Amino acid sequence: MGAGNTLAYWMNIGDNTIHLNQNLAQGTSNQAIAALIAHEALHADYSYYPAKWIAYTRSRYPALPLVDIHIYPDPWEEDTIDQEYTAYGKQVAVWNALKEARVDANNDAWAAYYAQGEADMKAEIRLLYNTGGTVYEEF
Ligand SMILES: [Zn+2]
Repeated sequence: MGAGNTLAYWMNIGDNTIHLNQNLAQGTSNQAIAALIAHEALHADYSYYPAKWIAYTRSRYPALPLVDIHIYPDPWEEDTIDQEYTAYGKQVAVWNALKEARVDANNDAWAAYYAQGEADMKAEIRLLYNTGGTVYEEF
């Protein structure tokens, strides 16, 4: 996600940097930050290897026409809802692997949505991401 109030973002291959909000340094565990980095690194992977992710998306949704898949190399395109779902899935996996007894409101909330299943998780992502007037592509 690229908005200025986000905790972290990946811009593009030209920038080639995962940006972290400096407010994270206060009171955020390294494990929680690692989960955010995993999310953004997955966005980077979409930028570098779009063909791999198009194939992955088609393996999950075989009936989805190629024209409806919006995964591009080094885009300045908004990420799709499905990309966010995949990125949050990686974030949640890293958080669950590292958190031990730690509490982190952001990661714990996404982990709870993710545990409810893809439909609920994507509904939450749409709620968050589509509020600024931009309607994100689904795939
Ligand atoms: Zn994201």
